[in-house]
Amino acid sequence: MYRLNQLCLAALLFAALGLSCSQDSSVPPTFDGPRAFSYLERQVAFGPRVPGSEAWTNCRAWYTSFFDSLGLKVDSQVFDFVDPYSGATLPLVNLMVSVAGRSTDQPGILLAAHWDCRPRCELASDPSLAAKPLDGANDGASGVAVLMELAVLLAEQPPPLGVQLVLFDGEDWGEPGDLEYYMLGSREFARRSVRGKYRFAIVLDMIGDKDQQIYREGYSQQYNPSLNDMVFAAASRLGLTTFHDSVKYYIHDDHLSLNSGGLPAIDLIDFDYPHWHTERDTPDKCSPEALENVGTLMVHLIYDPSLWPKN
Ligand SMILES: [Zn+2]
Repeated sequence: MYRLNQLCLAALLFAALGLSCSQDSSVPPTFDGPRAFSYLERQVAFGPRVPGSEAWTNCRAWYTSFFDSLGLKVDSQVFDFVDPYSGATLPLVNLMVSVAGRSTDQPGILLAAHWDCRPRCELASDPSLAAKPLDGANDGASGVAVLMELAVLLAEQPPPLGVQLVLFDGEDWGEPGDLEYYMLGSREFARRSVRGKYRFAIVLDMIGDKDQQIYREGYSQQYNPSLNDMVFAAASRLGLTTFHDSVKYYIHDDHLSLNSGGLPAIDLIDFDYPHWHTERDTPDKCSPEALENVGTLMVHLIYDPSLWPKN
């Protein structure tokens, strides 16, 4: 009887241990907003990451060493763009970071942000600053900061299916109205084929505002309502009150390039940002909490493919 009890106890212990082990690998890791915010500040500290500038070169080297140090594979797409405003040839560089999933049975997902800064602040309150480049704390660095913190978590705890993180260059090059000179990096990325390689893509842009208000973006809703449904249902479950389940703006952003290439993509963007394209787009307008909201949502989606749209 005693021996039997001992065996039963051992069996119960094994069951409990097995359960806790399986819980460990299925529980999504915790997204660290303050650490993500430090990555936002670090990018801005390089200076405006305007394509071709010294800050752009130095920041890209830092990104590469950061992802290398996590043991993740970093590839780049280098291509030339002839600037219509100066006639000069501008080198542009997309960075792609690959994270293998525990299973390779199905295509994984793609998460992207733009790492370049706009070369001008045409909406500056002081017109003498209009020709100066943006610091791009929210417009650029916020999305990348979330991807960097995700990379840390993904390197520590492999996701169920593969994740491709992409840092697009040249998103914000064009002058107002010159739509063909925006989204340069994502156009090139899509041109090199994206169809069928990923289940879907989510673009993160301007998600760091300390007064965060994220609505369904109109083109995303038009082309991929099921992806928006997935995101906003998850935000509601997580109690993220800065997400609003209705369409407010239609934004030309990198998700349009991906959709044009045949990859279903949506844009998560907070366009209620009074500092947009001004000299005031600086880290003090952003917050760790805003990054953590979006990062936590992304972790939730990455680690639970059962939430993904079925087709
Ligand atoms: Zn912009």
